Amino acid sequence: MTDEVWTVRKVLGWTAGHFEKSTVDSPRLTAEILLTHVLNTSRVKLYTDLDRPLQKTELAAYRALITKRLEGQPTAYLTGYREFYGRRFAVDARVLVPRPETELLVEAALKVLPKDAPSRALDLCTGSGCVALSLALERPKASVWAVDVSPGACAVAKANAEALGAGGRVTVLEGDLFAPVPEGARFDLVTANAPYVKTGELAGLQKEVRQEPTLALDGGPDGLDVIRRIADGALARLKPGGLLALEIGDDQGEAMVTLLTRAGYRDVRVDVDLARLPRLAFGTAPGAP
Ligand code: GLN
Repeated sequence: MTDEVWTVRKVLGWTAGHFEKSTVDSPRLTAEILLTHVLNTSRVKLYTDLDRPLQKTELAAYRALITKRLEGQPTAYLTGYREFYGRRFAVDARVLVPRPETELLVEAALKVLPKDAPSRALDLCTGSGCVALSLALERPKASVWAVDVSPGACAVAKANAEALGAGGRVTVLEGDLFAPVPEGARFDLVTANAPYVKTGELAGLQKEVRQEPTLALDGGPDGLDVIRRIADGALARLKPGGLLALEIGDDQGEAMVTLLTRAGYRDVRVDVDLARLPRLAFGTAPGAP
């Protein structure tokens, strides 16, 4: 970009084209989101203001973001937020960026939390808190516990809980899976988007994903190290008939059916995502009801 006059229209067109050549995902959308951030406006407003010229300082700020995006910084880390299940979650490099696939986990989990009666849910590996907080906000009578082993993630989850007005009903606990959960607590639902990428596949991930915390991605040699511990531990924490709902990798469907069945769950099943790939695994804790 030179010193000529750059309008919103022109700058978006140039950036989208540049992102496209550099194989940035969703080039136009990314250009718009970053410009919205710099101009502190909305995407709709960008379109009503296409002929607005950018000031020098705005252009410089936008240029800096473009450079970072091209270097592989995820868009959400640059803007500091990501939309998830209709709400805005603050995110930074301490947490995984919420993915649209994970909204399917929320949708499935909501089916077992009643609208008009109290219930208790536990979300492990909560990260930004996107799953735990979506559950709490969609089900105002539910009490939700959110656990993460990363102090940074817990700080982000707590800030999101406050910002979204769920602070009172979501308890964020720092620790290893079930360790910080009070002894006698029993849940109707345990959810987790645990790390499930195979260690050997981490290096081959997109450069954007490699900017995210390895702790949130690395699931050990077969990707199931953390998930196995969750499946074993949740049996003692779920009420009889309670549901374990997990996000999984698209090649882990069969392994999950075996794992959950052997662990002692009933009604074990795997759900596919919009690309028809395995994405969720479910098991019901034995016993009545
Ligand atoms: N879906 C993530 C990815 O993009 C993995 C998240 C996880 O390990 N829980 O690779």
